[in-house]
Amino acid sequence: MRAVNNLLVLYTGGTIGMLETPQGLAPGGGFEARMRDYLAAHRESPGIRWTLRELSPLLDSANMQQANWLAMCDAIVEAVKKDGHDGILVLHGTDTLAYSAAALSFLLLGLDVPVVLTGSMLPAGAADSDAWSNLCGALSLFESGVENGVHLYFAGQLLHGARASKLRSEAFDAFTALPRYREGQRAEQVPAVLTYCQPRVAVNLAVLPVFPGLQAAHVRALIDSGVKGLVLECYGSGTGPSDDQALLQVLSDARQRGVLMVAISQCTQGSVKFDTYAAGSRLRDAGLVSAGGMTREAALGKLFALLGAGLDVATAQHWFALDLCGERAQ
Ligand code: ASP
Repeated sequence: MRAVNNLLVLYTGGTIGMLETPQGLAPGGGFEARMRDYLAAHRESPGIRWTLRELSPLLDSANMQQANWLAMCDAIVEAVKKDGHDGILVLHGTDTLAYSAAALSFLLLGLDVPVVLTGSMLPAGAADSDAWSNLCGALSLFESGVENGVHLYFAGQLLHGARASKLRSEAFDAFTALPRYREGQRAEQVPAVLTYCQPRVAVNLAVLPVFPGLQAAHVRALIDSGVKGLVLECYGSGTGPSDDQALLQVLSDARQRGVLMVAISQCTQGSVKFDTYAAGSRLRDAGLVSAGGMTREAALGKLFALLGAGLDVATAQHWFALDLCGERAQ
């Protein structure tokens, strides 16, 4: 850990910089001037050297897509490799903050700088907003030193970028890293094809919860839409309607057709352990790969990083099963 001396603040939008419009809160530009004014008026604030770059278009993060993850990634790599920044603070909307933090955790593997994402529940201009405490808290972290890798900082908590989820839609402490069970083998070395140097392309990915009433036809329609990777949110320790032969058949056909299907648990604590129940092991036999205790955000971001890099399914499955940055192992 070392103190950061030349920070880039990458402003992507989100409530933190939003302004009132007749349609409701919408992303507003000019955040750099607002931030400089605030810090100048609050002399006790961290004095770290920073510059701000606004990504265009500024987004309500509800509109975040894979292309926006890649644009963030490019801006971060350019800032580090071309402009000499040694730390990055990403200002981002909270709705998909945990998804972006997870995706960037995988997309930026091998980039040896600390990247911290934050945002706020109330706009910086609102009375009693959490914007300035989150922002100044993050600046202080950079000033005192943060480990390399991707983190999410919110309401005084520094969370692992690939383990955080948004759990509350109104409270200031909206994010948590739940005590999901973690085990698994750490990849000894991350190959070049999985580092920040590897270009990625968009991939058709989907997330589907299992629920009483899920039919083979539902899953078939999804697979037929051209999905290349599927995160199936199973019950408990990785079970689903395994008495439904038609459903199992759709899953194994999809696997044969080269769809990478991974299983996470709908429970906020625990993990997928297929062998606990016959209803789980049948899903594994149909071709599902366990994501252990990974979050939905991490499973989706990791599928994107692997399949978006152009890996074939067998290779992607190999790397999915290993821990790449602390997302599934201690
Ligand atoms: N809808 C907003 C966003 O995600 C919510 C927020 O930032 O808190 O951009």
